[in-house]
Amino acid sequence: MCGIVGYVGTRQAAPEVYRGLLRLEYRGYDSVGLAVLNGSSLGVVRKKGKVDAVREEIGGMIGTIGIGHTRWATHGAPSERNAHPLRSGKFAIVHNGIIENYRALREELEANGFVFSSDTDSETIAHLFALYDRGDLRETLRAVVRRLEGSFAIAALCEGAPNVIAAARRNSPLIVGRGETGYYLASDIPALAGCVQTVTVLKNGDMALVCADRVQIFDDRGEVRRQ
Ligand code: GLU
Repeated sequence: MCGIVGYVGTRQAAPEVYRGLLRLEYRGYDSVGLAVLNGSSLGVVRKKGKVDAVREEIGGMIGTIGIGHTRWATHGAPSERNAHPLRSGKFAIVHNGIIENYRALREELEANGFVFSSDTDSETIAHLFALYDRGDLRETLRAVVRRLEGSFAIAALCEGAPNVIAAARRNSPLIVGRGETGYYLASDIPALAGCVQTVTVLKNGDMALVCADRVQIFDDRGEVRRQ
């Protein structure tokens, strides 16, 4: 097991995400990474090893929206190449879980011209975001999730959507918390201890668009259940 953290608000995101990742260390991990969006520019740092392997670099990651990941490798060796966040075009994604149909998806995506830079099952998710990108992140997220079999908690950033984290879960936990300066995402409640006043546990199959001042949660039919 391993973890996901996200933050969008008025503070610098990298230290907030880093702090949450440190609190998830007990879940086990072999590599770590963060992505921060600064305007329309994505910065990504990935390292093999412990969470503090990225400590030196987070000071240089500017931006108030970010996602982070600790990985427990299931597909592909524990290495920097396979560490998350994984990129495709305008997108950076983190994923916990296993994409069971990744072989078929990878063949399809390669036939569509996507080039893989890792050995993970998770990279298929990043390329699916790019494949289904029509400029509406909500619809792109729904299209991606429809293609996935297996278990996942996902958080994604898009260079064309500088104020929002897209998230989804199925058979892997994911929660959203509201703090004084913005919203947080995490795999479990201890990661957000002391940072948030309220917590919403996403239901199985839920998707979410998380902004600095609001969160929209919807199901696979696209019906909003919390705004
Ligand atoms: N299956 C993915 C991988 O091996 C995610 C593993 C995880 O949950 O950390 O990269």
